[in-house]
Amino acid sequence: MNALILKPGKEKSLQHRHPWVFSGAVERIKGEPQPGETVAVRDTHGAFLAYAAYSPQSQIRARVWGFRESEAVDAAFFRARLARAIELRQELDEVTDGMRLVHGESDGLPGLVVDRYGDTLVMQVLSAGMEHWRETLAGLLVELTACANLYERSDAEVREMEGLPVRKGILRGTLPAPLVIREHGLKFVVDVEKGQKTGFYLDQRDNRRRIGELAKDKDVLNCFCYSGGFSLSALQGGARSVLSVDSSAEALELARENARLNGLPEDRAEWQEADVFKALRLFRDQGKSFDLIVLDPPKFAPTAHHAANAARAYKDINLWALKLLRPGGLLATFSCSGGVSPELFQKILAGAALDAGVTAQVVGRFAAGTDHPAVLNFPEGEYLKGLLLRRVE
Ligand code: SAH
Repeated sequence: MNALILKPGKEKSLQHRHPWVFSGAVERIKGEPQPGETVAVRDTHGAFLAYAAYSPQSQIRARVWGFRESEAVDAAFFRARLARAIELRQELDEVTDGMRLVHGESDGLPGLVVDRYGDTLVMQVLSAGMEHWRETLAGLLVELTACANLYERSDAEVREMEGLPVRKGILRGTLPAPLVIREHGLKFVVDVEKGQKTGFYLDQRDNRRRIGELAKDKDVLNCFCYSGGFSLSALQGGARSVLSVDSSAEALELARENARLNGLPEDRAEWQEADVFKALRLFRDQGKSFDLIVLDPPKFAPTAHHAANAARAYKDINLWALKLLRPGGLLATFSCSGGVSPELFQKILAGAALDAGVTAQVVGRFAAGTDHPAVLNFPEGEYLKGLLLRRVE
């Protein structure tokens, strides 16, 4: 078998079961592996470390399939990994029919994301290795889930880094129109063709519910509302008013549709197309204030390289949000940036409160739902974090 031989000392992260081999760790390549092909990864003395998928264009030169030499990487291997991932999500059936079935590295399937929306699967193939097994995966997914429809949404930017073209389209069945899922008693229309990510922010499911529980009789501001997730929960939870802001007209259109679909009180909901950075300042000028604010911005820092710019952006919106809170009010603030650690995020928030002249307490913490797990040896998998802050004075 073709092999990657690592430089001396570079075997350490694999021994700690971290699933990535960076280009700088490779001493030489044995044979002529094609993109996506399985190679053995060996230390400088030739000892076996792992099987991995070779990706010549990416900085992540190989992604590990497994650390056992006796475990072949074949269709049976993928069947077992997929079956396990699917089985682990069964507990969610009661609360939703929209869930992440496969969360990449954290499910032992690096470069693969699969979301289920009712009877429709959406697959994202994000690495050369997964691209190699794409047809096998498509067949197995339909077989193992018994879902009728499979759509491919391989249009994430990371594909470029793997030297892969963007690809979108139906692979099995058709796309229901509209495609509606239920989540904690609410219905949501999901646009898997043109929506963000695979169509819905599944990772915020339980946090949306929490906001619903906190919203009774409150004036709520939901910034970066997308298709209305937190707004609908707040309305369902009995909010007095919910003002939702997003810069995307399509997202707001979906959000309005979702509010109607659930028969929620339209007179309590206001939807505003605006840049949150500007809107927060404007609200301040207008003398507006709120009891509960949600800030769920897009990924400002995909990697640690972007952390400095991201920190400025997070500080800015949090500073203005804290100023808009009435004393005793709550701010649910999130970061889905892999490049910003929970510690850094909390530090940024402390700076924001200081500059806002506000005293705030941490009264809760948020993470992604259980269908977005992070294995302990792959901290990169834990990207979503949030804090619930209470303005004291
Ligand atoms: N909270 C949502 C997901 C938010 S995703 C949910 O639960 O589903 C981030 C959203 O921010 C996207 O809808 C995107 O359109 C919007 N966005 C990005 N930059 C923005 C900006 N500067 N101002 C307002 N909205 C922005």
